[in-house]
Amino acid sequence: MKLQHFDTIIIGQGLAGTTLAWHLLRRKQSILVLDQENSVTCSKIAAGLITPITGMRLVISWRFRELLQTAEQFYRKIEQKTASRFYHQRGIIRLFSSQAEQDRFTKKLETQEFCDLVQQPISNFNHNLFSSLMGGFEMPAACQLHVSQYLAASRVNFQNRNYYQRADVNMNEDIILTANEVQIPKYGISATRLIFCQGAEDRNNPWFPQLKFKPAQGEILTLEIPESQETRIINHKSWLAPMPESKFAAGSTYEWDQLDSKPTENGKQEIVAKLKKFLRCPFQILDHRAAIRPALQDQKPIIGMHPKFKQVGIMNGLGSKGSLQAPWLAENFANYICEGKPIDSQVDLNQRYPA
Ligand SMILES: Cc1cc2nc3c(=O)[nH]c(=O)nc-3n(C[C@H](O)[C@H](O)[C@H](O)COP(=O)(O)OP(=O)(O)OC[C@H]3O[C@@H](n4cnc5c(N)ncnc54)[C@H](O)[C@@H]3O)c2cc1C
Repeated sequence: MKLQHFDTIIIGQGLAGTTLAWHLLRRKQSILVLDQENSVTCSKIAAGLITPITGMRLVISWRFRELLQTAEQFYRKIEQKTASRFYHQRGIIRLFSSQAEQDRFTKKLETQEFCDLVQQPISNFNHNLFSSLMGGFEMPAACQLHVSQYLAASRVNFQNRNYYQRADVNMNEDIILTANEVQIPKYGISATRLIFCQGAEDRNNPWFPQLKFKPAQGEILTLEIPESQETRIINHKSWLAPMPESKFAAGSTYEWDQLDSKPTENGKQEIVAKLKKFLRCPFQILDHRAAIRPALQDQKPIIGMHPKFKQVGIMNGLGSKGSLQAPWLAENFANYICEGKPIDSQVDLNQRYPA
């Protein structure tokens, strides 16, 4: 049987696969994106927050300015191409939870890079809706990608151009390597290369056993809050973020042992308890989801082709920062694949995991 040939087959239409697909298309590659179409995936349930300063230690996100600029340009372009709107600049309000955090903030103000990312006092803060006993600060550069909408708009675009197919690829049985290409006879297709973008599924990927994964399950709630018109994200140990159709998302939890997509009562109670510490008005829980974040032990993402089998590659490890990192990573990877430009050493599979 003659197989239909592509430059690149991508397995997975999450944040990683979708974003890589767009970058390869921009470089005129022929591609096919395959996906199982599960209703719940990590990308589909993510809140898509792009946060400049995170964690208890108030750390600036890795290469924030550089990655933000790439992300912004990229998502805006895809919004134009798909005639949709899914990328929003929104401030994040971070409320202090302790004196130690306040002190840390004051100390951090000594560096210009930190100062440039924060604003005090918080503008137009609604004290009737939110309590802020210890004050806080605002991060005006923060953004939000409505991930599910980005994926849906991209999929329609790919489908209309025959670049997308529903498929459930068995990594152990369905993939055949020949001298110059990779074949998936089950679907009648072959390609010069195949890139795995399977999220947490890739921790079982037999082609890349060297990768050291440390995935984290996360739970998230969808809420209705009739009294709130707040368009910014509020963060106080947990976060509350606006979502489409006047809803809100609240989350999220981190769990490293129970790695499945089953929402738990404990997870729900944890989010609700944190929310009640700063949200002063009634809310209703409409939905509750869980998924596994694909993360590597060193918390850095990875891209690259297999050290021995040049026909297979991987993009993974987006962790809890996929919305910010995916465009920059995909651009790096596409530049390598199409133009032979070196991959940034911090994310290069073959430098991080030498054969
Ligand atoms: C609760 C929660 C909240 C989050 N909030 C944020 C946030 O605010 N900001 C942020 O940046 N990130 C957030 N994240 C993390 C973000 O979602 C991830 O970084 C990102 O989704 C990872 O994308 P991915 O494409 O690598 O994986 P996935 O989204 O898991 O995509 C993998 C895709 O591959 C497909 N697939 C897998 N195996 C196969 C196969 N064998 N054949 C065919 N298809 C296959 C799956 O169906 C899926 O569509 C959150 C995650 C969770 C769980």
